Amino acid sequence: MDHFQIRNGELYAENVPLSRIADKVGTPVYVYSRATFERHARVFKEALSGLEKPPHLAFAVKSNPNLAVLKLLSREGYGADVVSGGELARALQAGMPARDIVFSGVGKTREELQAGLEAKIGQFNIESAEEGLELGRIAQSWDVVAPCALRVNPDVDAGTHDKISTGKADNKFGVPINRAGEIFDTLTKAPDCALNLRGIAVHIGSQLSDLSPLERAFEKLGSLLRDLRAAGHTITHVDLGGGLGVPYRKGEVTPSPAEYGEMVARITKGWDVTLMFEPGRVIAGNAGVLLTRVIRVKKGLNHPFVIVDAAMNDLARPALYGAWHDFDAVRPSGERMMANIVGPICETGDTFAMDREIDALASGDLAVFRTAGAYGATMASSYNSRGFVAEVMVDGSDYAVVADRILPGAIADAERVPDFLLS
Ligand SMILES: *Cc1c(COP(=O)(O)O)cnc(C)c1O
Repeated sequence: MDHFQIRNGELYAENVPLSRIADKVGTPVYVYSRATFERHARVFKEALSGLEKPPHLAFAVKSNPNLAVLKLLSREGYGADVVSGGELARALQAGMPARDIVFSGVGKTREELQAGLEAKIGQFNIESAEEGLELGRIAQSWDVVAPCALRVNPDVDAGTHDKISTGKADNKFGVPINRAGEIFDTLTKAPDCALNLRGIAVHIGSQLSDLSPLERAFEKLGSLLRDLRAAGHTITHVDLGGGLGVPYRKGEVTPSPAEYGEMVARITKGWDVTLMFEPGRVIAGNAGVLLTRVIRVKKGLNHPFVIVDAAMNDLARPALYGAWHDFDAVRPSGERMMANIVGPICETGDTFAMDREIDALASGDLAVFRTAGAYGATMASSYNSRGFVAEVMVDGSDYAVVADRILPGAIADAERVPDFLLS
Protein backbone atom coordinates (compact mmCIF):
# COMPACT_ATOMS: atom_id res chain seq x y z
CA MET A 1 0.00 0.00 0.00
CA ASP A 2 1.23 3.50 -0.67
CA HIS A 3 0.13 7.07 0.01
CA PHE A 4 -0.09 8.30 -3.60
CA GLN A 5 -3.85 8.42 -4.10
CA ILE A 6 -6.41 10.37 -6.13
CA ARG A 7 -8.52 12.83 -4.10
CA ASN A 8 -11.10 15.16 -5.67
CA GLY A 9 -9.82 14.22 -9.09
CA GLU A 10 -6.18 14.93 -8.36
CA LEU A 11 -3.20 12.78 -7.39
CA TYR A 12 -1.83 13.52 -3.93
CA ALA A 13 1.26 12.42 -2.04
CA GLU A 14 -0.19 12.02 1.47
CA ASN A 15 -2.03 15.37 1.98
CA VAL A 16 -0.10 17.33 -0.63
CA PRO A 17 -1.40 17.72 -4.19
CA LEU A 18 1.41 16.86 -6.61
CA SER A 19 0.58 19.92 -8.70
CA ARG A 20 1.70 22.10 -5.78
CA ILE A 21 5.11 20.43 -5.71
CA ALA A 22 5.43 20.75 -9.49
CA ASP A 23 4.63 24.47 -9.29
CA LYS A 24 7.03 25.16 -6.41
CA VAL A 25 9.96 22.85 -7.17
CA GLY A 26 9.59 22.31 -10.91
CA THR A 27 9.70 19.09 -12.86
CA PRO A 28 10.99 16.47 -13.24
CA VAL A 29 11.16 15.72 -9.52
CA TYR A 30 11.13 12.60 -7.40
CA VAL A 31 8.49 12.70 -4.68
CA TYR A 32 8.80 10.36 -1.68
CA SER A 33 6.19 9.68 0.97
CA ARG A 34 7.47 9.48 4.51
CA ALA A 35 4.39 7.54 5.66
CA THR A 36 4.88 4.98 2.89
CA PHE A 37 8.56 4.49 3.74
CA GLU A 38 7.69 4.00 7.40
CA ARG A 39 4.87 1.63 6.59
CA HIS A 40 7.11 -0.53 4.40
CA ALA A 41 9.89 -0.53 6.99
CA ARG A 42 7.45 -1.66 9.68
CA VAL A 43 5.72 -4.29 7.54
CA PHE A 44 9.06 -5.85 6.62
CA LYS A 45 10.23 -5.84 10.23
CA GLU A 46 6.92 -7.28 11.44
CA ALA A 47 7.16 -10.06 8.82
CA LEU A 48 10.39 -11.21 10.48
CA SER A 49 9.13 -11.03 14.04
CA GLY A 50 8.64 -14.81 14.18
CA LEU A 51 12.34 -15.65 13.90
CA GLU A 52 14.17 -17.41 16.72
CA LYS A 53 16.43 -14.40 17.36
CA PRO A 54 15.82 -10.72 16.55
CA PRO A 55 17.18 -10.13 13.04
CA HIS A 56 19.53 -7.41 11.86
CA LEU A 57 17.97 -5.22 9.18
CA ALA A 58 20.28 -3.29 6.88
CA PHE A 59 18.66 -1.09 4.24
CA ALA A 60 20.38 -1.47 0.86
CA VAL A 61 21.60 2.11 0.48
CA LYS A 62 22.19 1.79 -3.24
CA SER A 63 18.42 1.56 -3.83
CA ASN A 64 17.90 5.06 -2.43
CA PRO A 65 20.85 6.81 -0.76
CA ASN A 66 19.12 10.12 -0.04
CA LEU A 67 20.16 11.34 3.41
CA ALA A 68 16.56 12.01 4.45
CA VAL A 69 15.62 8.45 3.53
CA LEU A 70 18.55 7.05 5.49
CA LYS A 71 17.68 9.19 8.50
CA LEU A 72 14.06 8.04 8.37
CA LEU A 73 15.07 4.38 8.20
CA SER A 74 17.64 4.73 10.92
CA ARG A 75 14.84 6.06 13.16
CA GLU A 76 12.92 2.88 12.27
CA GLY A 77 15.81 0.83 13.62
CA TYR A 78 17.40 -0.04 10.30
CA GLY A 79 21.10 -0.22 9.70
CA ALA A 80 22.68 0.05 6.27
CA ASP A 81 24.08 -2.24 3.62
CA VAL A 82 26.66 -0.15 1.76
CA VAL A 83 28.62 -0.98 -1.37
CA SER A 84 31.11 1.90 -1.59
CA GLY A 85 33.03 4.38 0.53
CA GLY A 86 30.55 7.04 -0.59
CA GLU A 87 27.61 5.04 0.71
CA LEU A 88 29.46 4.31 3.96
CA ALA A 89 30.00 8.04 4.48
CA ARG A 90 26.32 8.75 3.80
CA ALA A 91 25.11 6.08 6.22
CA LEU A 92 27.34 7.54 8.96
CA GLN A 93 26.29 11.08 8.07
CA ALA A 94 22.64 10.04 8.41
CA GLY A 95 23.40 8.86 11.93
CA MET A 96 23.34 5.12 11.40
CA PRO A 97 25.41 3.48 14.14
CA ALA A 98 28.61 2.04 12.64
CA ARG A 99 27.94 -1.33 14.27
CA ASP A 100 24.73 -1.59 12.21
CA ILE A 101 26.53 -1.10 8.89
CA VAL A 102 27.39 -3.99 6.57
CA PHE A 103 29.87 -3.40 3.76
CA SER A 104 29.12 -5.46 0.63
CA GLY A 105 30.56 -5.34 -2.86
CA VAL A 106 32.86 -7.32 -5.10
CA GLY A 107 35.50 -4.62 -5.57
CA LYS A 108 36.14 -2.82 -2.31
CA THR A 109 39.37 -0.90 -2.63
CA ARG A 110 42.06 -0.86 0.04
CA GLU A 111 40.94 2.67 0.98
CA GLU A 112 37.35 1.46 1.35
CA LEU A 113 38.39 -1.47 3.54
CA GLN A 114 40.37 0.96 5.69
CA ALA A 115 37.44 3.39 5.89
CA GLY A 116 35.20 0.57 7.11
CA LEU A 117 37.73 -0.53 9.72
CA GLU A 118 38.32 3.02 10.83
CA ALA A 119 34.58 3.57 11.30
CA LYS A 120 34.34 0.22 13.17
CA ILE A 121 31.46 -1.06 11.06
CA GLY A 122 29.56 -4.16 12.12
CA GLN A 123 30.47 -6.51 9.29
CA PHE A 124 32.36 -6.77 6.03
CA ASN A 125 30.82 -9.16 3.52
CA ILE A 126 33.96 -10.31 1.76
CA GLU A 127 33.65 -11.77 -1.70
CA SER A 128 36.95 -13.64 -2.14
CA ALA A 129 39.84 -15.20 -0.25
CA GLU A 130 42.05 -12.44 -1.65
CA GLU A 131 39.84 -9.70 -0.21
CA GLY A 132 39.71 -11.49 3.15
CA LEU A 133 43.50 -11.71 3.33
CA GLU A 134 43.92 -8.05 2.45
CA LEU A 135 41.34 -6.97 5.04
CA GLY A 136 42.77 -9.29 7.70
CA ARG A 137 46.31 -7.98 7.17
CA ILE A 138 45.24 -4.35 7.43
CA ALA A 139 43.33 -5.19 10.62
CA GLN A 140 46.36 -7.03 12.04
CA SER A 141 48.64 -4.09 11.34
CA TRP A 142 46.16 -1.78 13.09
CA ASP A 143 45.82 -4.18 16.01
CA VAL A 144 42.07 -4.63 15.48
CA VAL A 145 39.91 -7.53 14.36
CA ALA A 146 37.65 -7.26 11.29
CA PRO A 147 34.22 -8.86 11.74
CA CYS A 148 33.20 -10.48 8.48
CA ALA A 149 31.07 -12.93 6.57
CA LEU A 150 31.93 -14.75 3.38
CA ARG A 151 29.54 -14.14 0.50
CA VAL A 152 28.86 -17.35 -1.35
CA ASN A 153 27.43 -17.83 -4.79
CA PRO A 154 24.84 -20.61 -4.46
CA ASP A 155 24.44 -21.10 -8.22
CA VAL A 156 20.69 -20.64 -8.39
CA ASP A 157 18.83 -18.85 -11.15
CA ALA A 158 16.88 -16.01 -9.53
CA GLY A 159 14.49 -15.94 -12.49
CA THR A 160 14.84 -12.17 -12.72
CA HIS A 161 16.36 -9.87 -15.35
CA ASP A 162 19.90 -10.98 -16.36
CA LYS A 163 21.40 -7.64 -15.38
CA ILE A 164 20.11 -7.86 -11.80
CA SER A 165 20.74 -11.56 -11.31
CA THR A 166 23.73 -12.17 -9.04
CA GLY A 167 23.63 -15.76 -7.80
CA LYS A 168 24.47 -17.83 -10.88
CA ALA A 169 27.84 -19.60 -10.99
CA ASP A 170 29.11 -17.35 -13.80
CA ASN A 171 28.14 -14.07 -12.05
CA LYS A 172 31.00 -12.08 -10.55
CA PHE A 173 29.63 -12.14 -6.99
CA GLY A 174 30.76 -14.21 -4.01
CA VAL A 175 32.75 -17.44 -3.99
CA PRO A 176 31.42 -20.74 -5.36
CA ILE A 177 29.50 -22.35 -2.51
CA ASN A 178 31.45 -25.61 -2.82
CA ARG A 179 34.72 -23.75 -2.23
CA ALA A 180 33.51 -21.91 0.88
CA GLY A 181 34.83 -24.56 3.30
CA GLU A 182 38.32 -24.40 1.87
CA ILE A 183 38.31 -20.57 1.96
CA PHE A 184 37.17 -20.63 5.61
CA ASP A 185 40.11 -22.93 6.38
CA THR A 186 42.54 -20.69 4.53
CA LEU A 187 41.35 -17.46 6.13
CA THR A 188 41.10 -18.77 9.67
CA LYS A 189 44.60 -20.27 9.49
CA ALA A 190 46.36 -17.45 7.61
CA PRO A 191 49.15 -15.78 9.58
CA ASP A 192 48.95 -12.04 10.32
CA CYS A 193 45.31 -12.02 9.31
CA ALA A 194 43.00 -10.61 12.02
CA LEU A 195 39.55 -11.63 10.84
CA ASN A 196 36.58 -12.68 12.90
CA LEU A 197 35.06 -14.77 10.10
CA ARG A 198 31.76 -15.23 11.84
CA GLY A 199 29.24 -15.74 9.09
CA ILE A 200 28.12 -16.47 5.57
CA ALA A 201 26.13 -14.27 3.20
CA VAL A 202 24.11 -14.61 0.04
CA HIS A 203 22.26 -12.26 -2.31
CA ILE A 204 21.01 -13.84 -5.51
CA GLY A 205 19.42 -10.94 -7.33
CA SER A 206 16.82 -8.22 -7.28
CA GLN A 207 13.10 -7.90 -8.12
CA LEU A 208 12.44 -11.58 -7.37
CA SER A 209 8.82 -12.34 -8.12
CA ASP A 210 8.93 -15.90 -6.85
CA LEU A 211 10.18 -17.17 -3.48
CA SER A 212 11.43 -20.55 -4.70
CA PRO A 213 14.90 -19.44 -5.93
CA LEU A 214 15.43 -17.72 -2.57
CA GLU A 215 14.28 -20.83 -0.76
CA ARG A 216 16.71 -23.00 -2.74
CA ALA A 217 19.57 -20.59 -2.01
CA PHE A 218 18.75 -20.52 1.73
CA GLU A 219 18.58 -24.31 1.87
CA LYS A 220 22.04 -24.52 0.30
CA LEU A 221 23.25 -21.98 2.86
CA GLY A 222 21.80 -24.14 5.62
CA SER A 223 23.80 -27.17 4.54
CA LEU A 224 26.94 -25.05 4.22
CA LEU A 225 26.31 -23.82 7.77
CA ARG A 226 26.20 -27.42 9.04
CA ASP A 227 29.33 -28.36 7.07
CA LEU A 228 31.28 -25.37 8.38
CA ARG A 229 30.29 -26.11 11.96
CA ALA A 230 31.21 -29.77 11.52
CA ALA A 231 34.63 -28.57 10.35
CA GLY A 232 35.02 -26.61 13.59
CA HIS A 233 34.11 -23.10 12.45
CA THR A 234 31.98 -20.83 14.65
CA ILE A 235 29.14 -19.28 12.70
CA THR A 236 26.98 -16.76 14.53
CA HIS A 237 25.61 -14.68 11.63
CA VAL A 238 23.94 -15.53 8.33
CA ASP A 239 23.11 -12.71 5.92
CA LEU A 240 20.23 -13.56 3.58
CA GLY A 241 20.61 -10.42 1.41
CA GLY A 242 17.75 -8.58 -0.27
CA GLY A 243 15.94 -9.14 -3.51
CA LEU A 244 12.24 -9.29 -2.69
CA GLY A 245 10.29 -7.93 -5.67
CA VAL A 246 7.53 -5.32 -5.69
CA PRO A 247 4.56 -4.86 -8.04
CA TYR A 248 5.37 -2.42 -10.85
CA ARG A 249 2.06 -2.89 -12.67
CA LYS A 250 -1.46 -2.49 -11.35
CA GLY A 251 -2.71 -5.95 -10.49
CA GLU A 252 0.74 -7.57 -10.49
CA VAL A 253 1.19 -9.88 -7.51
CA THR A 254 4.57 -10.39 -5.86
CA PRO A 255 5.31 -12.38 -2.70
CA SER A 256 4.39 -10.37 0.38
CA PRO A 257 6.90 -9.68 3.15
CA ALA A 258 4.73 -11.94 5.35
CA GLU A 259 5.08 -14.87 2.93
CA TYR A 260 8.80 -14.20 2.71
CA GLY A 261 9.07 -14.09 6.51
CA GLU A 262 7.23 -17.41 6.89
CA MET A 263 9.50 -19.06 4.33
CA VAL A 264 12.61 -17.71 6.06
CA ALA A 265 11.40 -18.87 9.49
CA ARG A 266 10.68 -22.36 8.12
CA ILE A 267 14.01 -22.81 6.32
CA THR A 268 16.21 -21.32 9.05
CA LYS A 269 14.59 -23.14 11.97
CA GLY A 270 17.28 -24.42 14.33
CA TRP A 271 20.14 -22.53 12.67
CA ASP A 272 20.91 -20.72 15.94
CA VAL A 273 22.34 -17.60 14.30
CA THR A 274 21.49 -13.92 14.02
CA LEU A 275 19.90 -13.55 10.61
CA MET A 276 20.71 -10.43 8.64
CA PHE A 277 18.66 -8.90 5.81
CA GLU A 278 19.47 -6.28 3.18
CA PRO A 279 16.14 -5.11 1.74
CA GLY A 280 16.19 -2.24 -0.75
CA ARG A 281 13.47 -2.19 -3.35
CA VAL A 282 10.78 -3.65 -1.10
CA ILE A 283 11.20 -0.69 1.27
CA ALA A 284 11.79 2.12 -1.22
CA GLY A 285 10.18 1.14 -4.53
CA ASN A 286 6.58 2.11 -3.97
CA ALA A 287 7.46 4.95 -1.60
CA GLY A 288 8.35 7.27 -4.48
CA VAL A 289 7.09 8.55 -7.83
CA LEU A 290 8.79 10.57 -10.54
CA LEU A 291 6.65 13.62 -11.27
CA THR A 292 6.95 14.94 -14.81
CA ARG A 293 5.26 17.42 -17.13
CA VAL A 294 4.27 16.79 -20.73
CA ILE A 295 6.33 18.99 -23.05
CA ARG A 296 4.20 18.26 -26.06
CA VAL A 297 2.33 15.53 -27.85
CA LYS A 298 3.65 14.71 -31.29
CA LYS A 299 1.93 12.69 -34.00
CA GLY A 300 3.44 9.23 -34.55
CA LEU A 301 3.08 6.54 -37.17
CA ASN A 302 0.62 4.51 -35.12
CA HIS A 303 0.23 6.32 -31.84
CA PRO A 304 1.20 9.80 -30.68
CA PHE A 305 4.46 10.34 -28.80
CA VAL A 306 3.84 11.87 -25.39
CA ILE A 307 7.13 13.70 -24.80
CA VAL A 308 7.68 14.30 -21.08
CA ASP A 309 10.34 16.40 -19.36
CA ALA A 310 11.74 13.38 -17.47
CA ALA A 311 14.22 11.27 -19.40
CA MET A 312 16.42 8.20 -19.17
CA ASN A 313 19.04 10.22 -17.29
CA ASP A 314 16.49 10.78 -14.50
CA LEU A 315 14.95 7.29 -14.49
CA ALA A 316 17.21 4.74 -16.16
CA ARG A 317 15.37 1.49 -15.46
CA PRO A 318 13.27 1.36 -18.64
CA ALA A 319 16.34 2.04 -20.81
CA LEU A 320 18.62 -0.29 -18.80
CA TYR A 321 16.32 -3.23 -18.16
CA GLY A 322 13.27 -2.64 -20.34
CA ALA A 323 11.49 -2.10 -17.01
CA TRP A 324 7.81 -1.18 -16.78
CA HIS A 325 6.65 1.79 -14.68
CA ASP A 326 2.94 2.56 -14.44
CA PHE A 327 2.29 6.03 -15.82
CA ASP A 328 -0.70 8.03 -14.58
CA ALA A 329 -2.02 11.55 -15.08
CA VAL A 330 -2.01 13.78 -12.01
CA ARG A 331 -5.49 15.08 -13.03
CA PRO A 332 -7.03 12.21 -14.99
CA SER A 333 -10.04 13.28 -17.08
CA GLY A 334 -11.32 9.73 -17.40
CA GLU A 335 -10.45 9.72 -21.10
CA ARG A 336 -7.78 7.30 -22.27
CA MET A 337 -5.39 7.27 -25.21
CA MET A 338 -2.87 4.93 -26.83
CA ALA A 339 0.59 6.47 -26.84
CA ASN A 340 4.34 6.07 -26.76
CA ILE A 341 5.91 7.77 -23.74
CA VAL A 342 9.34 9.22 -24.39
CA GLY A 343 11.82 11.69 -22.93
CA PRO A 344 13.69 14.46 -24.75
CA ILE A 345 17.12 12.76 -24.86
CA CYS A 346 18.73 12.08 -28.21
CA GLU A 347 18.68 8.28 -27.92
CA THR A 348 15.98 5.88 -28.99
CA GLY A 349 16.61 4.16 -25.65
CA ASP A 350 15.01 7.21 -24.01
CA THR A 351 11.63 5.51 -24.30
CA PHE A 352 9.54 4.75 -21.22
CA ALA A 353 6.78 2.82 -22.99
CA MET A 354 5.51 1.98 -26.49
CA ASP A 355 1.92 1.28 -27.47
CA ARG A 356 0.66 1.89 -23.93
CA GLU A 357 -2.91 2.76 -22.99
CA ILE A 358 -2.65 5.75 -20.65
CA ASP A 359 -4.73 8.63 -19.31
CA ALA A 360 -5.33 11.17 -22.07
CA LEU A 361 -2.67 13.89 -21.79
CA ALA A 362 -1.91 17.16 -23.52
CA SER A 363 0.95 19.62 -23.51
CA GLY A 364 1.52 21.05 -20.02
CA ASP A 365 -0.24 18.25 -18.13
CA LEU A 366 1.41 16.56 -15.16
CA ALA A 367 1.92 12.81 -14.82
CA VAL A 368 3.86 10.36 -12.68
CA PHE A 369 5.95 7.29 -13.19
CA ARG A 370 5.06 5.14 -10.22
CA THR A 371 7.25 2.82 -8.16
CA ALA A 372 10.25 5.08 -8.69
CA GLY A 373 11.51 5.25 -5.09
CA ALA A 374 14.14 2.54 -5.60
CA TYR A 375 16.86 2.61 -8.27
CA GLY A 376 15.44 5.93 -9.50
CA ALA A 377 17.22 9.13 -8.47
CA THR A 378 20.22 7.07 -7.38
CA MET A 379 20.89 6.04 -10.98
CA ALA A 380 20.48 9.55 -12.39
CA SER A 381 23.15 11.04 -14.63
CA SER A 382 23.54 14.39 -16.33
CA TYR A 383 23.54 12.97 -19.85
CA ASN A 384 22.65 15.53 -22.51
CA SER A 385 23.75 18.16 -19.96
CA ARG A 386 20.37 17.99 -18.28
CA GLY A 387 21.60 18.36 -14.70
CA PHE A 388 20.55 16.15 -11.79
CA VAL A 389 16.90 15.69 -10.88
CA ALA A 390 15.55 17.12 -7.57
CA GLU A 391 13.99 15.05 -4.77
CA VAL A 392 11.19 15.96 -2.36
CA MET A 393 9.88 14.18 0.73
CA VAL A 394 6.26 14.63 1.80
CA ASP A 395 5.24 14.38 5.45
CA GLY A 396 1.47 14.68 5.92
CA SER A 397 0.51 18.16 4.72
CA ASP A 398 4.09 19.29 4.60
CA TYR A 399 6.97 18.65 2.24
CA ALA A 400 10.67 19.43 1.95
CA VAL A 401 13.17 19.45 -0.87
CA VAL A 402 15.60 16.70 0.18
CA ALA A 403 17.90 17.03 -2.84
CA ASP A 404 18.35 20.23 -4.81
CA ARG A 405 18.19 20.12 -8.55
CA ILE A 406 21.80 20.36 -9.77
CA LEU A 407 21.77 22.64 -12.76
CA PRO A 408 23.87 21.98 -15.87
CA GLY A 409 25.93 25.09 -15.11
CA ALA A 410 27.02 23.70 -11.73
CA ILE A 411 28.32 20.58 -13.46
CA ALA A 412 30.16 22.62 -16.06
CA ASP A 413 31.73 24.61 -13.19
CA ALA A 414 33.71 21.50 -12.26
CA GLU A 415 35.26 21.34 -15.73
CA ARG A 416 38.31 23.18 -17.04
CA VAL A 417 39.64 24.11 -20.45
CA PRO A 418 43.41 23.53 -20.08
CA ASP A 419 45.95 26.20 -20.91
CA PHE A 420 47.24 24.24 -23.88
CA LEU A 421 43.93 24.75 -25.64
CA LEU A 422 43.90 28.46 -24.98
CA SER A 423 47.16 29.44 -26.70
C1 LIG B 1 21.43 -4.51 -4.37
C2 LIG B 1 21.70 -5.33 -3.19
C3 LIG B 1 20.72 -5.53 -2.20
C4 LIG B 1 19.32 -4.95 -2.32
O1 LIG B 1 18.55 -5.60 -3.28
P1 LIG B 1 16.99 -5.28 -3.40
O2 LIG B 1 16.56 -6.09 -4.56
O3 LIG B 1 16.85 -3.82 -3.65
O4 LIG B 1 16.34 -5.70 -2.13
C5 LIG B 1 21.04 -6.25 -1.08
N1 LIG B 1 22.29 -6.79 -0.92
C6 LIG B 1 23.25 -6.63 -1.85
C7 LIG B 1 24.58 -7.23 -1.60
C8 LIG B 1 22.99 -5.91 -3.01
O5 LIG B 1 23.95 -5.77 -3.93
